[in-house]
Amino acid sequence: MTHCVRCGGEYKHMKKTKTDSFKGGSLSVSEFPFKQCECETVISLSDGILMDGYKMLLERDGVIGRVSVTLGKLKERYPRPMDLILPYSQAR
Ligand SMILES: [Zn+2]
Repeated sequence: MTHCVRCGGEYKHMKKTKTDSFKGGSLSVSEFPFKQCECETVISLSDGILMDGYKMLLERDGVIGRVSVTLGKLKERYPRPMDLILPYSQAR
């Protein structure tokens, strides 16, 4: 169990919707996990790379507008985040 370095409390696992803008619009990823404790120290989990990769893909494809997706769907479609970041570097 991890504890907060500031207040010594335990982190709680929570989920939120994270929104970020890309060149053509905005991307909302729901069910995005993060850890937070009572003093409101927040730690984002490693899934941010998946969101960044998806934003790159949207920009590359010239997508315009608001895109909403759940993190679960993204993970299902792109089980390896590197597939998003290096889309042309490997044979499928
Ligand atoms: Zn704390």
